[in-house]
Amino acid sequence: MKWKEQLLTLTPYQPGKSIDEVKRQYGLENIVKLASNENPFGCSAKVAEALKNAPISFAIYPDGYATDLRESLAAFYKVAPEQLILGNGSDNLIQIISRAILGKGVNTVMAVPTFSQYKHNAIIEGAEIREVPLANGHHDLEGMLSRIDANTGVVWVCNPDNPTGTYIPKDKLFAFLEKVPKDVLVVLDEAYNEYVVADEGYHVNELVSQFENVIVLRTFSKIYGLASLRIGYGIAASEVIRALEPAREPFNVNTIAQKAAIAALEDQEFIQFCKHKNREGLEQFYQFCQESNLDYYPSQTNFILIDFKTDGNEVFQFLLEKGYIVRSGKPLGFPTSVRVTVGSKEQNAGVIEAMKQFLAVKTS
Ligand SMILES: *Cc1c(COP(=O)(O)O)cnc(C)c1O
Repeated sequence: MKWKEQLLTLTPYQPGKSIDEVKRQYGLENIVKLASNENPFGCSAKVAEALKNAPISFAIYPDGYATDLRESLAAFYKVAPEQLILGNGSDNLIQIISRAILGKGVNTVMAVPTFSQYKHNAIIEGAEIREVPLANGHHDLEGMLSRIDANTGVVWVCNPDNPTGTYIPKDKLFAFLEKVPKDVLVVLDEAYNEYVVADEGYHVNELVSQFENVIVLRTFSKIYGLASLRIGYGIAASEVIRALEPAREPFNVNTIAQKAAIAALEDQEFIQFCKHKNREGLEQFYQFCQESNLDYYPSQTNFILIDFKTDGNEVFQFLLEKGYIVRSGKPLGFPTSVRVTVGSKEQNAGVIEAMKQFLAVKTS
């Protein structure tokens, strides 16, 4: 068959091992999954309440415009409803943007390593990939600027970055955006924005009115704890949204997700609780790393990349057999590290204990 040539070079996304898989394989009772940056506290209790009381008919298509959720988000961010695009997860928005702009003869600029989906989608569309190595775990913004030319379609900036957890402060980010040509779309993937404590942040509405070539991606999968429902959104100038909309499939966000997201957005107290607990959790990991002389990147997210100075797969496997699923840094571009999601206090203490055992076995 006449597959796109570039498709044959790709492998499907490898999700972390599931809890049931690990239980069965190692005969363990209790498994803690700290691999996919999910929220250990679940989602707001208001979500279950809202869904219980909502008359949802499974036979009816969802609202393709997500009118109610759109209005909630517009009010929350003080933007116009036409400045929003909804996605079946922000992964779907990455796909929509790629489909809308990238193709043969177009190039796209991104960091390496960074979130894998930018490159994956760009390859499918046949675009030229221009990867700019991270400098000390941070985006090399000058380096990225220097790779932009007349054929550049999209620049991807993951802030905070996955898998390092590093953050571009507001002043540096804005100085960078000033220098990007106005006909190049900058995608600011802010999946972890709600966890950031590094600076005072900025108002998204100011950002997208100042820079009409920027789209900010956010998600309900991380701090909002709705990963299974698949819902994310983009915020941009209305001209950007209008151009992207035809590339979106009409009913890409299901009814349950729309209703759940509205309820989740209303409970900002829960979000603040999770943010606070996450900082406490990170402190547990920082302390462990310092005591054990392990390098790590101070994180602005709900995960931490820890360098064990040995094969990351080996650390991963050891922890797996103790019932902790983490991500090996190997496929993420950090071969001697593991990426651990910050869990509850008890989960953190547990995985830290297991990591101490690994170090003890390793040095004995
Ligand atoms: C998790 C993640 C996403 C994907 O989020 P979904 O909304 O669940 O598709 C996007 N970008 C980054 C950097 C992520 O870590």
